Amino acid sequence: MSANDHSPPSTRPGQLPEGLRLQTLAVRAAVERSQYGENSEALYLTSGFVQPDGATSARRFAGEEDGYTYGRSSNPTVTSMEMRLAALEGSEAALATSSGMSAIMLMCFALLKSGDHVIFSQSMFGSTIKLIGSEFARFGVESSIVPQTDLDAWRSAIRPNTRLLFAETPTNPLGEVCDIAALAEMSRQAGAWLAVDNCFATPALQRPMDMGADIVMHSGTKYLDGQGRVMAGALCASAQLIKEKFLPVQKNSGMVLAPFNAWVVLKGLETLDLRMRAQSALALEVAAWLETHPAVARVYFPGLASHPQHALAMRQMGGLGGAVVSFDVKAASPEQARARAFHVLDSLQVLSLCTNLGDTKTLLTHPASTSHGKLSEAQRQAAGIGQGLIRVAVGLEHIDDMKADLLRGLDTLEKLT
Ligand SMILES: *Cc1c(COP(=O)(O)O)cnc(C)c1O
Repeated sequence: MSANDHSPPSTRPGQLPEGLRLQTLAVRAAVERSQYGENSEALYLTSGFVQPDGATSARRFAGEEDGYTYGRSSNPTVTSMEMRLAALEGSEAALATSSGMSAIMLMCFALLKSGDHVIFSQSMFGSTIKLIGSEFARFGVESSIVPQTDLDAWRSAIRPNTRLLFAETPTNPLGEVCDIAALAEMSRQAGAWLAVDNCFATPALQRPMDMGADIVMHSGTKYLDGQGRVMAGALCASAQLIKEKFLPVQKNSGMVLAPFNAWVVLKGLETLDLRMRAQSALALEVAAWLETHPAVARVYFPGLASHPQHALAMRQMGGLGGAVVSFDVKAASPEQARARAFHVLDSLQVLSLCTNLGDTKTLLTHPASTSHGKLSEAQRQAAGIGQGLIRVAVGLEHIDDMKADLLRGLDTLEKLT
């Protein structure tokens, strides 16, 4: 059983036997019950913790004794969420943060200094590209942007000052898959860390640390919560990395997860495996069906045999493709593509036009004008995000209702001028 090094020993799940399976840990891993015997994990909504006496308080603040002191350092509900996620990812420890982006911010802040070099792919989440490529550049952090699937490009981008390789697989929104084990080997040889954004696959399908990654980053806002309720993020890593690098930065910067949000994600993790399997199966059906529609130019989904990295994806993601499907509507020009994509989105009566994913509700977005809207046209083209691209984050509605709602727009495109 993995536990967080920074959690007080008195709160570790002492009653749980060794060797429990993932499905069991997903509903059981947490701090110990309080004296009241609550069955659902307690929500500790408190910013401070009463100290038994001055000497104990002094030892806790000096780091000589474990114990909760103040909400910016830790909170038992947050610890429960961290323990449960660490158990699912197979990592020694985890650290919860206020959002996925704050997890990336914290990771880069903790690992990098001026003059260091980061390699990441051009298909990564738009804000990740902006944060590392622009914001951290202001503080002298260098970066190289490489094509997601080109291992030789990653390799030749390595420099003596390369400290971090940061991959996201599958990517948002095109579902490009990269070889985690190969990148892990490459980063080990370069003396750099490999971090993997595991938002799209989640530990239910893919465990990057088993393939050699040093750090797994999560937006808990997505599938970990799973019902579109709260913002959250996390970093999973060795207890040493968390304790020595990440925790001090978090304590001093305040990028902590609120206990209520931690509690929501904690409960979300209980159904993660079931949801991911059900939503991935529905996504495969939607993707295969979209591929046959005459108004659709191309479908991007790792679970389809037509996907360029299909074999790697199946090997790396437990035989499932995840639950995000993207497709291009057929069009003669970028202007027409945008108008057609908007028509499909504006015709929806059931599914949501909503910039999120990982919800039980199916959510559609137009990446070129939302998640990737702030990129330059050149960056957007390099990432392959066209004006006719629609992303479908498949939820749990009935498959026939999903198809009927998509058809409202797809079957009426000829009415557009
Ligand atoms: C949403 C998302 C993020 C950012 O997470 P937030 O919780 O929105 O800050 C990072 N990476 C990927 C792949 C995402 O989908």
